[in-house]
Amino acid sequence: MATSIIQLLPDHVANQIAAGEVVQRPASVVKELMENAIDAKATDIKLIVKDAGKTLIQVIDNGQGMSVTDARLCFERHATSKIRHAEDLFDLHTKGFRGEALASIAAIAHVELKTKQDQEELGTHIIIEGSKFVTQDVAVLPKGTSFLVKNLFFNIPARRNFLKSDTVEMRHIFDEFQRIALAHPNIYFTLIHNGSEVFNLPSSNYRQRIVNVFGGKTNEKLVPISEETEIIQISGFIGKPEFAKKSRSEQFFFVNDRFIKNGYLHHAIMSAYDGLLREGNQPSYFLYLTVPPHTIDINIHPTKTEVKFDDEQALYAILRAAVKHSLGQFNVAPVLDFER
Ligand code: ADP
Ligand code: MG
Repeated sequence: MATSIIQLLPDHVANQIAAGEVVQRPASVVKELMENAIDAKATDIKLIVKDAGKTLIQVIDNGQGMSVTDARLCFERHATSKIRHAEDLFDLHTKGFRGEALASIAAIAHVELKTKQDQEELGTHIIIEGSKFVTQDVAVLPKGTSFLVKNLFFNIPARRNFLKSDTVEMRHIFDEFQRIALAHPNIYFTLIHNGSEVFNLPSSNYRQRIVNVFGGKTNEKLVPISEETEIIQISGFIGKPEFAKKSRSEQFFFVNDRFIKNGYLHHAIMSAYDGLLREGNQPSYFLYLTVPPHTIDINIHPTKTEVKFDDEQALYAILRAAVKHSLGQFNVAPVLDFER
């Protein structure tokens, strides 16, 4: 007689497996929670971390909050308010859409959610640990949402042991925080680590936000860039060649307000700087690209830092020309002139 041995995995096991992909380290939690706050239309987002996020990560927003039902549902896998149909995947207007971040985080940490919608008198307070609901109460709360994530990887010792030093993990958190803050200058962001304020970034414009993040000296090196064609709109800033440095820490691409990495487009920029840089030097760039959502595919990797464009070659040419144009327009001289 045939023996059947296949079973569907229980939800908490499936969640824990998914968490392995979504949550690599504390910074992944930071990214997911901050993106959710942005999708909830918050104008003020506070990030609080302890011990580089290993002990505690909290994101407090003043966004739209959740109903009681949604506060419970948000921890289910594939539970999302952001898309409904497969077609929606090709016309995304939100950061999230997979509906798996919160289910994943709740599977591998202790999570406390407090949330209230503006029009409601009272809010909801939920504690969930390792996918198990511990408590659910009604509570007096301000408008918005707070997610508190403690003891990340408490039930996956191998993962916990693989976490790097606080310095390294905090570096990853800075990176995520910076990328998000640079993409959304209109939102007020604060970052507090071990009780002290690391960043306090009041709502402002793109230029001012870059300066607030990287320091006052940044202002003089920025040259504006602006280009609009049928398939792409480019805005932002590129760095004057004489300020180029060895590290790539000030190179940012955003596509439709999302930080992305793209070696091909990076190359377009480097080739526009051809002859203007000393060997091995890297120019700063903060480039905000806007394309019609249906011309990109963001669904390549769970962390969504890779994006597939419909027509990369055309974008390459447009971007390269736009950078060259800005460099020319602002009389950017070859670096040799500065050495004399
Ligand atoms: P996704 O962001 O892909 O939808 P998540 O697991 O991150 O998946 O979140 C699930 C749902 O929970 C979201 O679709 C949203 O409706 C709700 N949610 C999450 N965070 C917040 C927040 N800060 N404010 C309001 N609603 C939220
Ligand atoms: Mg999300």
